[in-house]
Amino acid sequence: MSIRDNAKELLKELPLNAYGEKVTVVAAVKFRTVEEIQEAIDGGIEAIGDNHVQEFKEKHDSIVGASRQFIGHLQTNKVKYLIGKTDLYQSLDRWDLVEELDKRSKRAGIVSNVLVQINIGCEESKGGFPLEEGEAAAEEIEKREGLHVLGFMAMLPISDDEAYLASLVRKMRSLYDTFRKSHPDVKYLSMGMSGDWKLCIENGSNMIRIGTALFGKRPGY
Ligand SMILES: *Cc1c(COP(=O)(O)O)cnc(C)c1O
Repeated sequence: MSIRDNAKELLKELPLNAYGEKVTVVAAVKFRTVEEIQEAIDGGIEAIGDNHVQEFKEKHDSIVGASRQFIGHLQTNKVKYLIGKTDLYQSLDRWDLVEELDKRSKRAGIVSNVLVQINIGCEESKGGFPLEEGEAAAEEIEKREGLHVLGFMAMLPISDDEAYLASLVRKMRSLYDTFRKSHPDVKYLSMGMSGDWKLCIENGSNMIRIGTALFGKRPGY
């Protein structure tokens, strides 16, 4: 199947999540060409998520008709290249990045939309705030003039234990629901990739980031 058909099929079969909410699909586009990305957009994909600043910059002017988001680990010295060009930063995972993004946004006279990344599996290899600190962190970030919190993002650890993974998604949903009570603009819980998106939306995620299932295997993997 073509990328366009993959996208159409995925969007057609995508159910509402456990809370009856519509699920937003973000195409994870690392190592994909502009042509491949445009095909996904033609197939109905409304949001594009980049991992690498260099790729984001190279493709920025060529990609039209979709929300541009950043989903990968972001080095503070590269924030300046994304300012004003990114609709949503999904991977706000540490304080020095909060400081830099806030500072650069204010300097540009804009407010940047962010998701607070949580290290839900407590993994050394992943970024993000600890779950216990998630609410206080989001509260503090929302106070920054240059930043606006629209929700939370997390990546599940690798495990065959579906009950355990489901429990982690539900913990994230609980954080999301708690924070949303006092911050009505909050609307995204971004959890789910090609291998685990069904489990994630069955347990309360409303945004998924899909690479392989749309584009096929990544080149070089
Ligand atoms: C690559 C990537 C994805 C998508 O992964 P697939 O398994 O290919 O669907 C999702 N989120 C992030 C942050 C990624 O880097």
